[in-house]
Amino acid sequence: MADILIIGGGVAGVTAAARLAEDASVTLLEAEPSLGYHASGRSAAIFIAQYGNETIRALNHASLQEHHATDGGVLTRRGLMLVGRPQERAAFEAEAAANDMAPITVAEARAAVPILNPVTCAYAAWYDEAYDMDTHRIMESARKRARSLGVEIVTGARVTAISRADGHWEVETAGRSFRAATLVNAAGAWADEVAVMAGLRPMEIRPFRRSMARLPAPNGADTTGWPFMDGVNESWYAKPDTGGLLVSPSEEDPVAPHDAWADDMVLAEGLARYEEMVTAPVTRVETSWAGLRSFAPDRTPVIGRAPDCPDFFWLAGQGGYGFQTAPAASRLASDLLMGRSPALPATVVGALSPERFAA
Ligand SMILES: Cc1cc2nc3c(=O)[nH]c(=O)nc-3n(C[C@H](O)[C@H](O)[C@H](O)COP(=O)(O)OP(=O)(O)OC[C@H]3O[C@@H](n4cnc5c(N)ncnc54)[C@H](O)[C@@H]3O)c2cc1C
Repeated sequence: MADILIIGGGVAGVTAAARLAEDASVTLLEAEPSLGYHASGRSAAIFIAQYGNETIRALNHASLQEHHATDGGVLTRRGLMLVGRPQERAAFEAEAAANDMAPITVAEARAAVPILNPVTCAYAAWYDEAYDMDTHRIMESARKRARSLGVEIVTGARVTAISRADGHWEVETAGRSFRAATLVNAAGAWADEVAVMAGLRPMEIRPFRRSMARLPAPNGADTTGWPFMDGVNESWYAKPDTGGLLVSPSEEDPVAPHDAWADDMVLAEGLARYEEMVTAPVTRVETSWAGLRSFAPDRTPVIGRAPDCPDFFWLAGQGGYGFQTAPAASRLASDLLMGRSPALPATVVGALSPERFAA
């Protein structure tokens, strides 16, 4: 019998496994044939320190140092440029101010990204604390550490039933049964389903689809040094990617948990919003995909013991921040599960706790 059984092999489950294995025997079950198949394999791989609400920002800042240190460092500075259309002045100014972005001239913006259209791009602002994240290395480094500390990682192991017997959990997959003292629910878009399977109250964690397209380099330009670009109110974003450009319509369409794919119409509309801001037409989409960003109603992750069962631990609702917050989130999970005083401030721990939804 394991001390802790983690359900879900995305970034949340794998980083928690690596951390918890320092103090406990851990088993991790992943439904798919490989780790990181769902949201964790589909992200934009960007770290933006000021992204998210106050609690997310606290997790971002508490994660930064570890990201810089993990495996020799997994962050490379990219910078972020917010661009606004002439009719978006008020929204642009509010967003730039709320996110500590420094206004720059359109000429400066075009020096950074020469394809910006000087007619439609009326405003620009710059933010330095945005980094490319090597998400593959984050996953691999955590997986290797977990394995070296004895974590049993079982892929192709979809949990189909969970029951309680003699004070421990019995967990069924198609091929095998597992027993554990404590369950960690790191099931991403399926987190509520897992709670219900365990006979517990769901947290109303809802998945929202977000699509992404990969374009060849616009006009054959060298995109390597371009910043991450954001439309006002996250109406689209673009990020250089191995010689090309990733463009997302930034949609948040509510869906049921599933193996997501890009919606052609949503993608086309998002690409049109990007195209309006540049002089290089979109001639070809090399590939596209979508993933699910799962949010609790207050858009803050849910990390802590279930109010209705202390042996069930929530590590879910990471939304669009699961990679950038993973170091602090996994540390908090391990502190709470091991009975240590969390390194994060009490207000942040409280804002993340499932207790906030207790009736
Ligand atoms: C398009 C897009 C762009 C993003 N960009 C960024 C970004 O730039 N920066 C950032 O930090 N974050 C980003 N995110 C968010 C980030 O990807 C997620 O927050 C993070 O991957 C969530 O990790 P997770 O482990 O909770 O979920 P997942 O990666 O979805 O993992 C959950 C796992 O649980 C498994 N599971 C579910 N049910 C069961 C079961 N019954 N039995 C066994 N296993 C089960 C699933 O198969 C799945 O693999 C983005 C997300 C998307 C979709």
